[in-house]
Amino acid sequence: AGSGKFFVGGNWKCNGTKDSISKLVSDLNNAQLESDVDVVVAPPFLYTDQVKNSLTDRIEVSAQNCWTGKGGAFTGEISVEQVKDLGCKWVILGHSERRHVIGENDEFIGKKAAYALSQGVGVIACIGELLQEREAGKTFDVCFQQLKAFADAIPSWDNVVIAYEPVWAIGTGKVASPEQAQEVHVAVRDWLTKNVSAEVASKTRIIYGGSVNGSNSSDLAKKEDIDGFLVGGASLKGPEFATIVNSVT
Ligand code: PEP
Repeated sequence: AGSGKFFVGGNWKCNGTKDSISKLVSDLNNAQLESDVDVVVAPPFLYTDQVKNSLTDRIEVSAQNCWTGKGGAFTGEISVEQVKDLGCKWVILGHSERRHVIGENDEFIGKKAAYALSQGVGVIACIGELLQEREAGKTFDVCFQQLKAFADAIPSWDNVVIAYEPVWAIGTGKVASPEQAQEVHVAVRDWLTKNVSAEVASKTRIIYGGSVNGSNSSDLAKKEDIDGFLVGGASLKGPEFATIVNSVT
């Protein structure tokens, strides 16, 4: 972990029922969490209000997506105004499932990021390469292109956390090694230094996501440029998520 405050997000994706979410919230409320860590969970939209009304204030709530502008006639969408109204401080954007399963492109994601930030909602900006891109030696190119799309769209990095999530590691049980993750985090920081500013590069937290669990998080957290995690599967288990939060070094 570097000098910024450690940041751990739990992305619940499209999982849960009223009952299972009530149990997860109660496990989180009972967990002992290191004080010096920002902890955020992203429930499915339909349960955001339930979570917000029952979860301890110690843990912030994030949306998993949002619309590109002000709400209105956009059937099925969720506006940033609504996200804010429910008390969410963050939104996850550019997640690989939205890029590669739903088909969102860089420009669309950039618009969402700009609008969310303009309304005071923080952005967890996800980037990461596919397996074939890694094997073709294109990891940095892909990550830099996705970063550039965010950089071109947003006016400031003040309220942004970058999540490096190699797609081959998401939901596969194949976690990146601490060295693999660290290598990309350093490259991302260098990119920020060269293309944004040294200040933004040193201040912006770069978190890792992809099959993080209670057994591998502490080795990853030892790496200097890994400033936290975005956790999918393991965030659905309260005690294990707490272990990951507490792996801060
Ligand atoms: C994610 O969806 O952001 C993620 C990292 O998932 P998992 O931890 O399940 O690989």
